[in-house]
Amino acid sequence: MMTQQTEKTTKSFSDEVTSRHGGETLTSCYQCGTCASSCPVARLDSSFNPREIIKLSLLGEKEEVVSGDAIWLCCSCFNCQERCPQNVEIADLFYALRNIALEAGHAPGMYADFASALVAEGRIVKISKFVEKKRKEYGLPPLKSVDLEALNTILSATGFSKSEKTEESQ
Ligand code: SF4
Ligand code: SF4
Repeated sequence: MMTQQTEKTTKSFSDEVTSRHGGETLTSCYQCGTCASSCPVARLDSSFNPREIIKLSLLGEKEEVVSGDAIWLCCSCFNCQERCPQNVEIADLFYALRNIALEAGHAPGMYADFASALVAEGRIVKISKFVEKKRKEYGLPPLKSVDLEALNTILSATGFSKSEKTEESQ
């Protein structure tokens, strides 16, 4: 039988997820496993199981869900989402869980680097002199410069810049 405290913790994480954009359908899951059997990532890496992550989220295991690597492995192919009999928006749910993880300072370093580079240079990966030279050799035009002011206006309006700073300060 669930204690009052456990019930409270479970409900508060479920509520946190369902109140997020993308996380609204969490509680419709009845654990059939169709998502896990449709997932190409799960086929390659047995440590990744979308049904299990949803179960942990429903059980209120916030720390285990947001501090682990699993939520970052989904490649957003939407196979599971197309097949879920309960219309759980599974791929979108992973975005919601990643946003919670990001705010809690658990995003993998690689993503923090991408975010910083995007804010500073307008691209998630720095274009090296080597790449520029190769583009010229292949007859490709030089890459256009990025309108950083416009980009940063968008990033600020969406809250992205704030998340990026949160991640940097961890
Ligand atoms: S397919 Fe849908 S209902 Fe079934 S376990 Fe996955 S999310 Fe839950
Ligand atoms: S969207 Fe993510 S969880 Fe769903 S099948 Fe694709 S990789 Fe797996």
